[in-house]
Amino acid sequence: MIGEPLHAEDPKSFLVEGADRAVLIDTGIGVGNLGEVIRELTDLPVTVVTTHAHWDHVGGNRWFVDIRAPKGAHAALRAGWSDDRMRRALDPSELSGALPVGTDPDHAGIPPLTDIVTIADGDTLDLGGRSLNIIAAPGHASDLIVLLDRVNGILFGTDAVYAAALYAQMPDSDLTVYLRTLQTLSELVPDLRVVYSSHGTVPFAPDLIVRMTAAMAEVIGGRHPDGQEAGGRLHDFGAFGIITAAIDD
Ligand SMILES: [Zn+2]
Repeated sequence: MIGEPLHAEDPKSFLVEGADRAVLIDTGIGVGNLGEVIRELTDLPVTVVTTHAHWDHVGGNRWFVDIRAPKGAHAALRAGWSDDRMRRALDPSELSGALPVGTDPDHAGIPPLTDIVTIADGDTLDLGGRSLNIIAAPGHASDLIVLLDRVNGILFGTDAVYAAALYAQMPDSDLTVYLRTLQTLSELVPDLRVVYSSHGTVPFAPDLIVRMTAAMAEVIGGRHPDGQEAGGRLHDFGAFGIITAAIDD
């Protein structure tokens, strides 16, 4: 796990090694040289899997050549993120420490990508002695995927399931779609040992996904929110939460 804990989003990327190659799940915000960090960790060829096109998951893509992403993420990846957008993302109010030496918050835009290979629900990435299954997991974002190491009982829950407030208030979030994804992931729980996700406490016990599914159904059913967070209404369930758009009710 490569974390960026000094940013409020605290995004995590994951490097998974097989015998023949490594998969890097997401590349974080893009401050510092993630390419150098990964070269210190593995000698294997690295395939980046972008789980969805949100700025806090794609910033370090610039350091890699082999980048795969769901079709729905391609347009945003090809457009990149402007200096202006990233200046807001790196506002001092979002940070709890200094940016890495050499990072200029006024020029921290994420460059456009040209070569992107499509991955889709049902695909399997063979790393040599270890494989990762791609599972579509829309709801937080329409293009979101999760990755499953079935043999070892490991789910990489990305932004679909994590032990913190789930963001269901984004422009392309959809609560009903999100619930269906949680139901699908719940069915995997009996065969899971552990979940590693992109935000919140890592790792967490798979049972939490079952509770998230019930909680999402409760929210859709009209549960009264407990407060406000991240531009939406927070439903607090203790080990996790659900944030919905303010216009929901
Ligand atoms: Zn996201």
